[in-house]
Amino acid sequence: MTKPASLRSSLVRVMLLLGFLAVIATSALIVLTTILHRTTLNAAAATDSVRLAAEAQVDLLLHERATDPLVRREIEGDLRRRLAAARSLVTTDAEVMVLDRSDARVGDYVASAEEPHDARTAQLHQQAYAALDELVSLNVEQASEARAVATRLDDLANVLGVAVSLLLVAIAGGLALWLRGRAFAPIFGLAEVMRRFGRGERDVRAEERGPAELREMSARFNEMAAAIAAQRQAQIAFLGGVAHDLRNPLSVLQLAVALIRDDQPLPPEDKLRKTIGRIRGQIVRMDRMIGDFLDMAKIEAGELDLRLQVHDARDLVRDVVGLFDSGATTSRIEMRLPDEAVPLRCDALRIEQVVTNLVSNAIKYSPPDSPIAITLGQDEEQVVIGVEDRGFGIGEGDRERVFEPFRRVGASKDSAPGAGLGLFVVRRIVEAHGGRIDVQSAPGRGSTFEVWLPRTSKGTARQGATRASAD
Ligand code: ADP
Repeated sequence: MTKPASLRSSLVRVMLLLGFLAVIATSALIVLTTILHRTTLNAAAATDSVRLAAEAQVDLLLHERATDPLVRREIEGDLRRRLAAARSLVTTDAEVMVLDRSDARVGDYVASAEEPHDARTAQLHQQAYAALDELVSLNVEQASEARAVATRLDDLANVLGVAVSLLLVAIAGGLALWLRGRAFAPIFGLAEVMRRFGRGERDVRAEERGPAELREMSARFNEMAAAIAAQRQAQIAFLGGVAHDLRNPLSVLQLAVALIRDDQPLPPEDKLRKTIGRIRGQIVRMDRMIGDFLDMAKIEAGELDLRLQVHDARDLVRDVVGLFDSGATTSRIEMRLPDEAVPLRCDALRIEQVVTNLVSNAIKYSPPDSPIAITLGQDEEQVVIGVEDRGFGIGEGDRERVFEPFRRVGASKDSAPGAGLGLFVVRRIVEAHGGRIDVQSAPGRGSTFEVWLPRTSKGTARQGATRASAD
């Protein structure tokens, strides 16, 4: 497909065409007026020459009739002056020849007129008169030729003027039509689509047509509209996920409560205790879920508040392991902590939340007796906390996806309850500290999650308004 022309380059092309036309029209006008000027000068010279030749003829007649030698001399002087003036007006070689001839004939006649008049003098007079006649005719002819040239130039100028005007009108009309069809129509179309989108029609998209700039604008609008639509879908899915996940523990609670009926005696104590134990378990689960939802809402709103202080990371890990206080579970967890202190500037509660989440996942997604290890390491700049299990593991394609909200993957998702928000919150907390979380895993062999944190975290602006405060 050929690349669509841009509005800018099309307008530049039209301007260049108009400029080219203007240069051609101006040059043609300059040439025409120059020729017209020269033709007018020739016509004026021819007219003057006709007048001078006619006056010379009159002089010739007067000279023939004059008897007084003084008068004759004066007339001869006039004759020569007129012929000299006519010479200054010659424009063609033919005129030079005719003028030379007239000069010679007039000279011959004047020389023979010194003698008493005879037949030869009369003949020379006639010849001189005829030569001047020829001069008159030639100049009359030249004058009418000049007039014909002027008329032709006039016609040519008219044709040129009309042609240039028509061309300009055609170009202006073409430009207007092009702008209406190719530029304004897409702009109005885009404006209409934006208006409809603003009114709530989320499915409308702009047609990508017209010059390159407008296609680009439409494409950007479509991308933005698609992103907004996807965001909306994600919000709806989020709400659906929240409702769905809250419903599960709620149904268990409903079933448990249904055991105690108004019209019947209470069940035996051991059954009651079991039911209350189940209720407690579901309350803990709901509490955890609501905590995750609230954290997620805070993270999305950019309101995750970090209270940064320097702690020994070993204490944080020990505190977390202490939480898993049932003897059986604790015996599964092995801590590999360095002997020297591991100073880490962080929000202790949030980092404990991260480690708790990873350890509880390791417990949830591995067989009851398989071991879990928590390791702690450090270098000059970073502290690394690792949580290893020998559980179900995560398939290669799912390793990145487990950090997405509501994402539960593989066989592990059926083995234990959960909302799929824990790792999403974990990653955001770690990133808010300026760190990162990685996972290595193989299905059936277990997983290792590693959290890398800068020793002197300042918190980051990655979450938009995520705030870090130092106490
Ligand atoms: P939840 O545990 O509530 O489902 P998480 O965000 O903590 O949500 O975990 C997302 C998913 O990642 C889990 O549903 C599980 O499929 C997988 N997962 C997390 N940790 C492990 C682990 N240690 N071993 C195997 N799978 C895991």
